[in-house]
Amino acid sequence: MRTFKEHRPGDAMSQSITLAITKGRVLQEALDILDKIGIRPEEEIESSRKMVFPTNRNDIRLMILRGMDVTTYVEHGIADLGMSGRDIILEHGGNGFYEPLNLHIGQCNMMVAGLKDEGTLPNRLRIATKFVNTAKRFYAEKGIQVDIIKLYGDMELAPISGLAHRIVDIVQTGNTLRANGLVPLELIEKISTYLIVNKIALKTKYDKIQPLIDALGGATR
Ligand code: AMP
Repeated sequence: MRTFKEHRPGDAMSQSITLAITKGRVLQEALDILDKIGIRPEEEIESSRKMVFPTNRNDIRLMILRGMDVTTYVEHGIADLGMSGRDIILEHGGNGFYEPLNLHIGQCNMMVAGLKDEGTLPNRLRIATKFVNTAKRFYAEKGIQVDIIKLYGDMELAPISGLAHRIVDIVQTGNTLRANGLVPLELIEKISTYLIVNKIALKTKYDKIQPLIDALGGATR
């Protein structure tokens, strides 16, 4: 079996392409887009515990990662390309890769939300979120000082329990907010999944990667 080292960008010998995608709510849509351009995993991904999957194209393989890790693997060139939510790209900062395509899947909003009945709030708010950098940037740009509290999930509990006054989170249908007595207050950014490409890999594997970008662009227009 080949090691990952053999597939680093710039490796003119193999010129194989690794595409990182996320297991989760956009996996099927991502696989549908790949299917449209003739790339199919050779094994069932959803039910497998494996993380690397060969495809019908012997020069392309898929790496299945947690959402927050796709940008990291592409930044470091272990994966040449990735499909990553704009929420994660914003939080990561976008170093080391280009974002050539909006894939128009996984559409949702990054929002500030709070209790429906907030009562009187203090001048300095506590904001709970897993998107710490995004929340900091949003409030800094507005010139508002806040205290950010990092959480890893279930953000809706923070205002209910008194841990924080507001949250910064992804809202799709709004059902989770409503079910917890919260309302959306401010839109931070419209989110969807983007194709990201390692900057060095685009140069060194241009002949392989550019046609893929073009094909994906055609399939998602
Ligand atoms: P909803 O109830 O449909 O508004 O979904 C909100 C919950 O699902 C929140 O806990 C979000 O973190 C999560 N969520 C919604 N859409 C996405 C998405 N596209 N990517 C990741 N998480 C999402």
